[in-house]
Amino acid sequence: MTAPAARYEVQTCEKLGRYLVAARDLKAGETILSDEPFVLGPNSESSLVCFNCYLPLMSKFVVCKKCAVAPVCPGEGCPENLHKKWHSDMECDFFRSIKLTNGLHPMTLVQNVGSLLALRAFMKRTIEAQAWKEFMQLETHLEERKGTRVWEFSEDTVKFIQSLSIMDDIPDSELIQKICAAIDVNSFEVRGPAVPALGCAEILRGVYLKAALLAHDCVGNTHMSINDNNLLVCHASTDIKKGEPIFYNYTDPLKGTSIRQQHLLIGKYFKCTCSRCSDVTEIGTYMSSVICPECKTGYVSHTTPEEWSCNNCAKTFPENNMSFKVQCCVDKFGVINKKDEKELEEYIRNVSLILAPNHYLLVEAKQRLAGVLRDTINREPRPTKKLMRRKMELCKEILPVIEILCPGISRTKAITLYELHAAMVQLAKKLFDGREISGSAYMDELMSAEKLLKRSLEMLFIEPGNSPEGELCAKALEEYRALKATMSGVLDALHSEGKSYNFHANYQPPFNPLWNRFCPGMADQSSVLALLILAVGVTVHFSLHKVEEGHVGVYYRGGALLPVTSQPGFHMMIPLLTSYKAIQTTLQTDEVKNVPCGTSGGVMIYFERIEVVNKLEPISVLDMVRNFTADYDKTLIFNKVHHELNQFCSAHTLHEVYIDLFDQIDENLRTVVEKEAETARRKAVIEAEKEAQVAKIQYEQKIMEKESLQKIELIEDSIHKAKQQTKAEADFYHLQKQAEANKLLLTREYLELKRYEALALNNKIYFGNDIPNMFLQATVGDSVPVPIPKGVKVE
Ligand SMILES: [Zn+2]
Ligand SMILES: [Zn+2]
Ligand SMILES: [Zn+2]
Ligand SMILES: [Zn+2]
Repeated sequence: MTAPAARYEVQTCEKLGRYLVAARDLKAGETILSDEPFVLGPNSESSLVCFNCYLPLMSKFVVCKKCAVAPVCPGEGCPENLHKKWHSDMECDFFRSIKLTNGLHPMTLVQNVGSLLALRAFMKRTIEAQAWKEFMQLETHLEERKGTRVWEFSEDTVKFIQSLSIMDDIPDSELIQKICAAIDVNSFEVRGPAVPALGCAEILRGVYLKAALLAHDCVGNTHMSINDNNLLVCHASTDIKKGEPIFYNYTDPLKGTSIRQQHLLIGKYFKCTCSRCSDVTEIGTYMSSVICPECKTGYVSHTTPEEWSCNNCAKTFPENNMSFKVQCCVDKFGVINKKDEKELEEYIRNVSLILAPNHYLLVEAKQRLAGVLRDTINREPRPTKKLMRRKMELCKEILPVIEILCPGISRTKAITLYELHAAMVQLAKKLFDGREISGSAYMDELMSAEKLLKRSLEMLFIEPGNSPEGELCAKALEEYRALKATMSGVLDALHSEGKSYNFHANYQPPFNPLWNRFCPGMADQSSVLALLILAVGVTVHFSLHKVEEGHVGVYYRGGALLPVTSQPGFHMMIPLLTSYKAIQTTLQTDEVKNVPCGTSGGVMIYFERIEVVNKLEPISVLDMVRNFTADYDKTLIFNKVHHELNQFCSAHTLHEVYIDLFDQIDENLRTVVEKEAETARRKAVIEAEKEAQVAKIQYEQKIMEKESLQKIELIEDSIHKAKQQTKAEADFYHLQKQAEANKLLLTREYLELKRYEALALNNKIYFGNDIPNMFLQATVGDSVPVPIPKGVKVE
């Protein structure tokens, strides 16, 4: 194995200062960097926490035995499984020496717990010279802070540290202010350890030297997570091309421009000029816009400092008029009970008459309402269908907005998709049990829900296992397995009734106009057209036909293929004599299921599903249909995939197929299928994607092989590994995703996979109140919010 090439490099420019760019093409989901905290400690607003493990010290504490000043956990002390002692020996010695020379009292530390972070950073000055140097190079905006309340507030810390008489040799009188500034500007919010009895945790702050260099953009391209050991991991949330800046969104992506900018200005001292901030429509979401009071259809946005103008009738309105309107809605939202379904519904109804449909206030109200409905549905013994429908509707309204503002991997998106799937499954089950829908309609719904859950899981898999999101991931994984089991039960029942099921699930038609951007190709345009066709009359009904966008029509007369094709749109043909077929020319996915293969060691494995994505060029349609019929993909793709996969497997051992060469299977299939298409002079773009599952391991066969003992050992080893994989089919998405993103590190991903298995099998995982409460709440936004210094309030 070769070492992976560097994923990022540091660059400098006037506008961004030092920032990170991709050193090579990065794929969504790929790890860009991981980072241990330079310093970690309580927030300036935290209550007293243990200096060693950060558990809140609610009523009593003891002091560290060695230094006799640092407050730590009483009784049996800090939890045993501590990853790191944060009250390090170095700190302990340091405190002890101050106690000896200066009489440091424990109460002084208790009273100045908010200054601990600055003190800890200061201590690194002599001990970790290199890291200290990097810390001192971080952005501080020191000049802008002078004379503000933040500066004044930090004076407490300055006085406290000066009182310890440890600064005598330091000429820089502003050093402590500089430390405070570097912490304020660069720290990330970190969840402290959960208090066992309460499940809640203190919010800490940590400075991560590498991650601090990520530049801000209101539409980031990274996903950040911090695990229980306080290790920060930054993943690419979308594909990033070599040389492109790596951005992290410091603010809440689901807030409007004015709020985001205020937050950045106060906490970070800069005015964001990113493409989203410079676009009054906020990338077409109209997140800060108001419905036009004049034409009632357009959206009025803040176009110039003094004016707002309508995108439809172009009428302009004075600034203070419009911001007053918005402020009224903000104020109203401030006073309603956000846990009350009726109040939230009423708020949404009223405010929808004033604000643009995806206004950030509406998005937030809808998120909260969905959370309230979720709780009601889970709590009540017989929740109504209406509740479930409403929850689904809300999720579908929110999702397209999230998709635009948080492209790619996003925590909020994953949670919303999960919740949408849950409501879908609950509703479908209720309808099916009440005999309101058929078995195959039930199956359709379950399959749509499965797709959503799968997308959600793919995103949740990169969350650390020991975080609430990681726990949600484990829960979602369980539900995925249960869903699969339900689906195969329904399928069996359908088959035993002699019905066949056609695997073409479709999403429900969207409610949100942005949905089309979210799920292109899923738009339902047929309803209006269907009315039109009816009006034209019955005779025309047989001759007029529609070729959908993304298809080409081919015609048969008397069974013979006619040498003409038609483009999307309405066309006429001779009724009853001519028939037509629409051939898809956009990207389409074919699934090949349960492909059995024997490896060179004689072990049978099954690839549960292979997805082949192919695209047929419109000019090749006629040629293709003539040679291979309208079901060309059967001959060209399905059969070929079976054949090639068998060839590949029989030439390799189980270990190679699953571990070493798994990522090559794609390539292999792709080359072969492409070549096949090419020899037939078909210009098809084909990409193969696979999912695999070991269904059956035939133990006996390994003995039949009569190979050397050593080799048998090797096989046993692979069987063991393969068996572990069987346990979690869905876990495989993780491996697959990582393998794609990160081909060089398969072994590590494999370990990661095992970790998820352990997690999924662990009974001690707490699925209590925490999970329901976390849905769509500000604490699990897409960003790890950056704390704002005390005494400064946004809004
Ligand atoms: Zn402790
Ligand atoms: Zn100590
Ligand atoms: Zn911005
Ligand atoms: Zn207007």
